[in-house]
Amino acid sequence: MNTALITGANRGIGLEFATQYARDGWQVIACCRQPERATKLNHLADQYGASVLIFQLDVKELHQIERLSKKLSETTIDLLINNAGTYPPASHGELGHIDYSDWLEAFKVNTLAPLKMVEAFVEQINRSQLKTVAILTSKMGSIADNQRGGSYIYRSSKAAVNMVAKSLAIDLQPRGVISVLLHPGWVQTDMGGPGALISAEQSVTGMRKVLRQITQADSGKFFAYDGQAIPW
Ligand code: NDP
Repeated sequence: MNTALITGANRGIGLEFATQYARDGWQVIACCRQPERATKLNHLADQYGASVLIFQLDVKELHQIERLSKKLSETTIDLLINNAGTYPPASHGELGHIDYSDWLEAFKVNTLAPLKMVEAFVEQINRSQLKTVAILTSKMGSIADNQRGGSYIYRSSKAAVNMVAKSLAIDLQPRGVISVLLHPGWVQTDMGGPGALISAEQSVTGMRKVLRQITQADSGKFFAYDGQAIPW
């Protein structure tokens, strides 16, 4: 049985990853900030029993990541999905109105946490067959794709995590660990809003297909949910 560890698994894209992998018979380690308030995730755990285990994790708190890694030291992790992400209020990220404390918070969640997760869990990942790390980024972090400007906070935090994933691909290549970046599309979640183009189900179905198809040669690459390569 394969094991996936997912951050931010209580709603949106993270919950959909947990749901689909549980349905396919995976062991799911579902992390979220407030398990006691994660109604939908608890419902999933009730449905799948020990196949869905819920752990408390605020990814901004690096000591919590270390503590969870110690708790799961004997676990093998085939797929680490760094999904948790934040998009501060749009008005806080525009020129002349930048909220610098929001910027630092966004960097903690979107950029620092994915790297800390890999540092903390690399031994558990190294033991697995799939040895895959996925980081949920965004096309908004693509420098080549930026035609509209603005969104300084979100764009910069995702552009920075793109570089994190690329360096991980190089540094972990000798161990056979694959590091990929995934753009989920514009998705109907709390972050994407109701007017977004695709459902979480469509997005995650697509990203799981990408994850099934990638090989070591794809490590360090940036893919959309439909498999298209995204320019840096
Ligand atoms: P949502 O806003 O719907 O959900 C965000 C998730 O991240 C929630 O589970 C939230 O938990 C969690 N999270 C936020 N901060 C923390 C933290 N400090 N510790 C742990 N968990 C945290 O977003 P989506 O599901 O839409 O997005 C998932 C990923 O996809 C993100 O990385 C996002 O940037 C990316 N993305 C999304 C797009 C979209 O259109 N939706 C487009 C491009 C990229 P809590 O409930 O506790 O707040």
